[in-house]
Amino acid sequence: MPTIKIESEKCKGCSLCIDVCPYELIRQERTINHQGYQYVVLADPEEQCTGCTLCALMCPDICIEVFK
Ligand code: SF4
Ligand code: SF4
Repeated sequence: MPTIKIESEKCKGCSLCIDVCPYELIRQERTINHQGYQYVVLADPEEQCTGCTLCALMCPDICIEVFK
């Protein structure tokens, strides 16, 4: 199944990837990473991710890797 991996320690919590995911599979955590940002995580219990790569392309900090 396609999925993504997000490097939470690099994430700056800008939420661009949240806005771009067509299935709303990315959400922001309340806790912060070592940089002090509320990082994001994949929330895809029904395995809806299609591996479309939109989130990875949008991320300015190259935190997201897509597995097809
Ligand atoms: S690869 Fe596409 S479907 Fe999967 S989380 Fe990213 S934007 Fe959403
Ligand atoms: S686009 Fe990148 S830096 Fe911004 S919230 Fe998503 S993973 Fe984090």
